[in-house]
Amino acid sequence: MKFPPKIEITEVGPRDGFQNIKEWIPTETKLKIIDWLITCGLKKIEATSFVNPKAVPQMADAAEVITTLKQKYSDVTFTALAPNLRGVRSAIEAGADEVAYIISASERHNFENTKQTIDQSLEGLGEVVKIAGGTKIMLAIPTTFNCPWTGKVPVENVIKIIEYGLAVGVSEIGLGDTIGSANPLQVEELLDILKLKFPLLSPVLHFHDTRGMGLANVIAAMQAGATKFETSVGGLGGCPFAPGASGNIATEDLVNMLEGMTIQTGIDIEKLMKAVSRTKEVLSVPIISHMASALDCVV
Ligand code: ZN
Repeated sequence: MKFPPKIEITEVGPRDGFQNIKEWIPTETKLKIIDWLITCGLKKIEATSFVNPKAVPQMADAAEVITTLKQKYSDVTFTALAPNLRGVRSAIEAGADEVAYIISASERHNFENTKQTIDQSLEGLGEVVKIAGGTKIMLAIPTTFNCPWTGKVPVENVIKIIEYGLAVGVSEIGLGDTIGSANPLQVEELLDILKLKFPLLSPVLHFHDTRGMGLANVIAAMQAGATKFETSVGGLGGCPFAPGASGNIATEDLVNMLEGMTIQTGIDIEKLMKAVSRTKEVLSVPIISHMASALDCVV
């Protein structure tokens, strides 16, 4: 097995995790958790989402979160998710370094998420890139592998979206296993197809651990050449528009595995475990990660 010497991790807990917590998390608490995560060495954080606050009330303070973080930190990249042009505009106005614009590979999931067809979303992406100016646009593709309603997603859908994205000039491509049902073989096969089609592409992989295959999928993805992953502190996460989606791979589980394999992450696992404990204290949700359970055993 061949592994890369270094992996880039984007922390998505403050977006993917918080958006699934019903009880309001005060802005101050959200910012505090992000501070703790930055102390551990995380350099890229998906801090919030510019969605309709009626649909996802937890993200109503998106602008305040980004503005405050940008005033405080100059060496961390803050990214925000946006499902439509209006959200992208607000994210740019607030000062996000990068905006993740989402187009699902599954037609049905894309419609549930954005009320648009994939073709309409692609047209929207053209507009998004035009208004972005200096702000980077990441094209995030949920349900890259499987859809909660329609099953296995055709690879052609993924290829079509990536082709369009690269043609209009997005800076990153994100591939999401939104419902955590992909397996290592599926991951390797898809990445091999994409490598042939887009030899220079280095996608960001976003795995959910719903069926316990998150870390196995990371290994498969690294074998296929992937070096960028999105994870969430304490394994928080899900998808409000995908029934059955549960948490992401826990950041601490991935860091523990990679550092043990002498693959650099730039993240201090001891500090990260402290951040996990503190996050557990301030949030009213269970923290489900292997490392958190291991910590409970030793304390
Ligand atoms: Zn997710």
